[in-house]
Amino acid sequence: MNFSRYDLTDILDMIRSGSADIIDVNEWFYRKSTELNAKINAYITLIEPAASKENGKLGGLAIAVKDNISTMGIRTTCASKMLESYVPAYDATVIEKLKRNGGRVLGKSNMDEFAMGSSGENSAFGPTRNPRNTEYVTGGSSSGSAAAVAADMAPAALGTDTGGSVRAPASFTGTIGFKPTYGAISRYGLIAYANSLEGVGLLTKSVRDAKLIFRLIAGKDRLDSTSINIAFNDEQPREKISLGVVKSLVKGVTKEVSQSFESSISKLEQNNFIINEIKGISGIEQALNAYYVIACAEASTNLSRYDGIRYGPKGDISTDWKTYIANSRSKFGKEVKARIIMGTYLLSKGYYETYYLRALQVRKNLTYAFESILKGNDAIYLPTMPVLPWKIGDKLDDPMSIYLSDVLTVTPNLAGLPAISIPIGEKRGLPVGGQLIGKYGNDIALLSIARRAEHAMGGKIKNE
Ligand code: GLN
Repeated sequence: MNFSRYDLTDILDMIRSGSADIIDVNEWFYRKSTELNAKINAYITLIEPAASKENGKLGGLAIAVKDNISTMGIRTTCASKMLESYVPAYDATVIEKLKRNGGRVLGKSNMDEFAMGSSGENSAFGPTRNPRNTEYVTGGSSSGSAAAVAADMAPAALGTDTGGSVRAPASFTGTIGFKPTYGAISRYGLIAYANSLEGVGLLTKSVRDAKLIFRLIAGKDRLDSTSINIAFNDEQPREKISLGVVKSLVKGVTKEVSQSFESSISKLEQNNFIINEIKGISGIEQALNAYYVIACAEASTNLSRYDGIRYGPKGDISTDWKTYIANSRSKFGKEVKARIIMGTYLLSKGYYETYYLRALQVRKNLTYAFESILKGNDAIYLPTMPVLPWKIGDKLDDPMSIYLSDVLTVTPNLAGLPAISIPIGEKRGLPVGGQLIGKYGNDIALLSIARRAEHAMGGKIKNE
């Protein structure tokens, strides 16, 4: 049997009705993954499927898990030489919840090292390749999770999103990428990059799959004091859905992306969406700068734990202290080192006020601006990425241009809002994604809106 035509919801239905067997399903995705991995490089570690059934909603179904989410007994590398042989002694709360609902880990997916990147090229295990065209990047940092779903190497995947890491690769691979409200899914066991911005998200084939898994893994966790309970009542969106479109943000995107975006707007308008044009969001011009200041500052403190004493491989203790630390920290890749250095600089005396505190102010203003737009609209609609996927290696000499590609995805992270990327078209055979940003804590409502938008775009999975 070939499962590529089905989303996860369909597959679970087939298992329940007896037309498919869970052992065959897991076997099929595993086999496909082993066949394709040399080409796509979606997985760092693959787990042989267990030949047993399981209770719970997911019935034993295995999905891909980004390699910065702790999995007990399974190597968790963060795509870094620093954690190359790290095997966690405990499960992240999401994994525990996944297992409690009958879910399993199919493999640990490739990513940008410590989730720092937008293209999937910053991995110590080599870049992930875009299943749509293997010369192109998948987007990052959840590159392997998106590629696995797009290439039928997993029925769904967990990723993480700090400034777009679930939505960017979803946009570049033609999959769904959902980043929930900050705190809606526990971060316990997620290896930290920038705590105040990041969270676990989902990569799936359909919006309904994202909703199904989200319900199973979300909720307050006593092990993560920033986690929250969100309302799960599934109220259907009103007949007419109003979307705020921020004109100033759409201006900077390439012609190809803006063409797809324009035609997606017509499709939405034909399907009971009302488009409200919004002139601008105050503070939006500084959002990308503020994001990188805050992210690097938090990264520099978080990553100081990899000193070869508490975390990271133990080195040669016969050397002096400085050499010992320097040797162990040399295991970080170039991008990670650059961010630690930038973050340390930004937090040092005199610069802290100039950069870090100002970035926090921008963040606060932006949060208020979003709040006021969302008072008058059900969601905000934007392209996900301002550009199409680029060729692997093409931008490696120009990190600034890669940072700039995050301009549309970082804002919901700064404001803590839920956001989702859905496929809206194709250019030169490469997918284009559109992004819906919802109200704080209204994740289920956003998913219902996204489902309607997915239908308006003629989403592949039509079964209800
Ligand atoms: N590209 C952004 C960064 O490098 C976002 C990454 C992410 O969301 N983890 O920080």
